[in-house]
Amino acid sequence: MRLEKCWFCSSTVYPGHGIQFVRNDAKIFRFCRSKCHKNFKMKRNPRKVKWTKAYRHLRGKDMTQDSTFDFERKRNRPERYDRNVTEQTLKAIPLITKIRQERQINHIAKRQMAGKSMSRKKDAKELEQDLQMLPKKDISHYETKTKVLVSQLKTEENLMEE
Ligand SMILES: [Zn+2]
Repeated sequence: MRLEKCWFCSSTVYPGHGIQFVRNDAKIFRFCRSKCHKNFKMKRNPRKVKWTKAYRHLRGKDMTQDSTFDFERKRNRPERYDRNVTEQTLKAIPLITKIRQERQINHIAKRQMAGKSMSRKKDAKELEQDLQMLPKKDISHYETKTKVLVSQLKTEENLMEE
């Protein structure tokens, strides 16, 4: 069973699904659904359309370089059927999927780090500036807290720079 990739959005096209267009120079374009086919007919560039994989890869939104992608390769030579190999492949699929999902979660968390530290910095600055707005009995308590927070952020910043 050969699984093709959609020319527009790069999702998997399973046998019997989607549509195939053969241009008069014999180049084959496969589409997973009419949405992708229509976008192709409108001559849209998949790199400029936000929901495609090409766009997301180009802008580093998805994990692009990972060892788990090496398993999925297009081979033009048919493999001889071997029951053991097939069995092992089927066993490995859930494991590889799990590893890939975990790495993807890590990738997203790493990308969110910058925004999170920025919002924390903004909060700390606001707290430092408007400390006098708090009720008088709470000021000393919050002052020490702010100092701790600011020093924490500074060490974090130093770690990021290194
Ligand atoms: Zn598609």
